[in-house]
Amino acid sequence: MADTEYCRRTAVTGLSVSPTDATRLRELVEEWKRGCQLAVNEAWGVCHTRSEVQQLAYDVLREETDLGSQHAVLATHRAAEAIKRARDGGEKPEFTAPTVAFDTRTMTVFDDRTVSLTTTRERVRCELDVPDDGGYQTEYLDDERWEPAKSALHYRDGEFVFHLGFRTPRPGMDPPTEGATVLGVDLGVENLAVTSTARFFPAGDLQHRREEFERVRASLEATGTRSAQRTLRQAGYRLDQQVGHRLHEVANGIVAETDRYDCDLVAFGELDEVREMLPDAGPYHQWLFERLLSFVEYRAAERDIAVVEVNPEYTSQRCMECGFTHPQNRNLDAGQFECLKCGASANDDYNAAKNIAFRCVRRGPLSSRGLGAAACALQSGVVTPDDGFTPYAELSEAPKSD
Ligand SMILES: [Zn+2]
Repeated sequence: MADTEYCRRTAVTGLSVSPTDATRLRELVEEWKRGCQLAVNEAWGVCHTRSEVQQLAYDVLREETDLGSQHAVLATHRAAEAIKRARDGGEKPEFTAPTVAFDTRTMTVFDDRTVSLTTTRERVRCELDVPDDGGYQTEYLDDERWEPAKSALHYRDGEFVFHLGFRTPRPGMDPPTEGATVLGVDLGVENLAVTSTARFFPAGDLQHRREEFERVRASLEATGTRSAQRTLRQAGYRLDQQVGHRLHEVANGIVAETDRYDCDLVAFGELDEVREMLPDAGPYHQWLFERLLSFVEYRAAERDIAVVEVNPEYTSQRCMECGFTHPQNRNLDAGQFECLKCGASANDDYNAAKNIAFRCVRRGPLSSRGLGAAACALQSGVVTPDDGFTPYAELSEAPKSD
């Protein structure tokens, strides 16, 4: 799987698009939807791998749509993914979302923060709407280690938004993990992050700010004036900064835990998987997680601490005390882990964070990746449903959550 060799991030930006270019991009959106649908119609019930669907539907798309050759290829791949997802008893996919995929053959990102995009006619070149004072997007745009990758254009409420994908080779795992002590971090919606040392970082404020922004968006979009659009953009930047501020605090807190427990390695669950496992997580959380991870990577690198992403499968279902793994080990309403077999109970996220750390341990029960770490940093205290985290005396100055 080529995908696992790269870390992937997404920078979401507005696009400044001239009226002529906007028309072209809207045409492309329509042709793209039509192309994906045609490919699904051809392949539904026949095949589902990318290469099969491409072989079957490519000529049809070239004949019956205005898509260029590479967008026709991408549309067949998009159709294949949709078919694969719907295969187990699902209904035939319908393409209605105004979204187009791009890759490095259909887009070029320039140093002057413009992007040129293939359309059904000639290419258009648009400015990326990056905040003047430097949003998180610049961390990828201005860093040569991140190269542009699979991206997506979204058309919503009369505006184009670009999800600019970046990738960088996953760092080699061998030297830093050998004999390392690992800090596991579980990501979530209610608690943005929980460490295997039982430090909790609630997300309360971030959820609230996002809801506030959505309220502002709804009322301004109803107005629809140019000044309303400007106000909305400013509100977006403000959200971006507030979120960034909080995420820096959380990243600092996580790195502080590595100091406190003398860790060489921080482990997260693979972000795509993590999001799929969280029913309440949407694109906003994906965005939060990606930014948090890049902040942690940045700070960890200064201390020679490696950051890895491990397969998070079953980390929320496995009992840290006895190893028994079952979906019903979780009491979702109470946010509690309650083992059906041994009766052990713990905070749900904390249990998962410990399992994530154990994924890295050599010959450990979950060491599918065999990272070769030697130990997990665990909390020196207890977590109970009523009292939360109770540290041992010698750690009592430590904050139990922030
Ligand atoms: Zn158990």
